Amino acid sequence: MNILVINCGSSSLKFQVIDTDTQKAIAKGLCERIGIDGAITYENLRNKTGKIKENTRIDDHKKAISLVLAALTDSKTGVIRSLSEIGAVGHRIVHGGENFTKSVLIDNDVINAIREVSELAPLHNPANLTGIEACRAMMPNTPMVAVFDTAFHQTMPPKAYMYAIPLNYYKDYKIRRYGFHGTSHKFVSTEVAKYLGKTPEELKTIVCHLGNGASVSAVQYGKCIDTSMGLTPLEGLIMGTRCGDLDPAVVDYIMGKTNMSAYEIDQMMNKDSGVYALSGNLSSDFRDLWKAREEGNKNAELALDAWAYRVAKYIGAYVAAMNGVDVICFTAGVGENDTKSRALIYQYLGYLGIEIDEEKNAKTRGEIAEISKPESKVKVFVFPTNEELAIAQETLALVQCPVKYKHTKKKAE
Ligand code: AMP
Repeated sequence: MNILVINCGSSSLKFQVIDTDTQKAIAKGLCERIGIDGAITYENLRNKTGKIKENTRIDDHKKAISLVLAALTDSKTGVIRSLSEIGAVGHRIVHGGENFTKSVLIDNDVINAIREVSELAPLHNPANLTGIEACRAMMPNTPMVAVFDTAFHQTMPPKAYMYAIPLNYYKDYKIRRYGFHGTSHKFVSTEVAKYLGKTPEELKTIVCHLGNGASVSAVQYGKCIDTSMGLTPLEGLIMGTRCGDLDPAVVDYIMGKTNMSAYEIDQMMNKDSGVYALSGNLSSDFRDLWKAREEGNKNAELALDAWAYRVAKYIGAYVAAMNGVDVICFTAGVGENDTKSRALIYQYLGYLGIEIDEEKNAKTRGEIAEISKPESKVKVFVFPTNEELAIAQETLALVQCPVKYKHTKKKAE
C-alpha cells in the first residue's frame, strides 16, 4: 500500500509517500514558508527527472496539500497516476497528552481530543490539526491515522513522570513529564531487537536519539519506563539550541536581573541555548563545532564535552533505572553520523564492561552497525531511525485492523 506521511509545522509541511511492500519512500518533499510567501521542493524517488523546486504562493496548509497532491499525480513529476493509489495518510502529531497511548484512526472524536491537549503544545498541535483538516478536505474517503510523539512514553510509571511539585498542578493542568521522539524510540528499540533475532520483551535497551533535538529513553522489555524530555522537549539533554536540564530558579533569577519576560526566557532557553550557546554562538551544527574544536576553539570544545557528559549521565541513570542494560543504540543526525561525538560518550561507559571497536565506530555513518566488540558486556549499535517509515507502519496496521478510538478521561493519580 502507498501511504502518504504528513508532518506539519506552523509554516511548513514535510511529506513522503512510502510503499509499505518495499518499506521504501517513493516520493518526498517539503512545502515551506506557508502563509508567508511559499516554496515547494519535491522529488520522485523512482524517476530522477521528477523534481520540483520553485517559489510559489502558498497561503495555507490546504493549498500546500493541493500542491503536494498535484505533484504526486502530475504526468511529468508524478509517482502515482491518481489519488486512489494512496491507501491511507499518516499524520505525525507532536502531543497526545494522556489521551493517546497509541496511534489511532482519525475521526471527529480524535480531532476533538487532539484539540483538547493542544494547550500542552501550542506551537505544534494546532499546525498538526491544520494538516489533518486540509487532507480530509482534499481526500475525504481516504483513511487517516494520527501517530503521536508522546504515545510510546505513556507506559512510564508515575514515579518517572511526576514532577515533585504540588499535586494540584497535575490534577488541574496535567503538568507532568510526557517525553517526545516516541516514534523514533519505539522504532529503534523494536528494530534492533529484530536485528538481534529477539523480541523487544527480551531486552533492556537505551535509545539515544541525538539530533538537533535530542532525548534518551529507557526501554525495558518493550516498554518505555523513562525518557529525558518532559512536559515539553526542553528538558533533559543539551541540544542544538535547547538548554536541557536547568535549575528552575534560573528563570526567576534572570528575570530579576534583566527586563526579560518569562516568554523571552523561554525563547532563549529553546532557541539561543544548547551547544550553540556554549560554543559562544558559533553554531548548533556538530560539523562546525568539530571543525572549530580541531582549530583550537575552546568554546567549541566545552560545548561538545558538556553535551557528551550529559548524554553519559542519562545513560548511567537509565542503567540504574532498569538495573542493567543489554543494548545501547545511537540514532538521529548526530548519533548516526558523528563518529567523534559518539567517541566522546564512550569514554564514560567503560564501567559497564563496554568495549568499542574504534575502527568500526570511525567508519560507521548512517547505517546499521554493531560497534561494540563481540566480548563487550553490552551491545552498542548505530541504528538509523526512520520516523516516516514508522508512521507508515503504524498507519498500515490500523488500516488493516481498524480500532475505533474511545475517549476516556484518565483519573488523576
Ligand atoms: P537531526 O535533527 O536528526 O536531523 O540532526 C541534525 C544534526 O545532525 C545537525 O545539526 C548536525 O549537527 C548533525 N549531523 C548531521 N550529519 C552529520 C555529520 N556527517 N557529522 C556530524 N554531525 C552531523
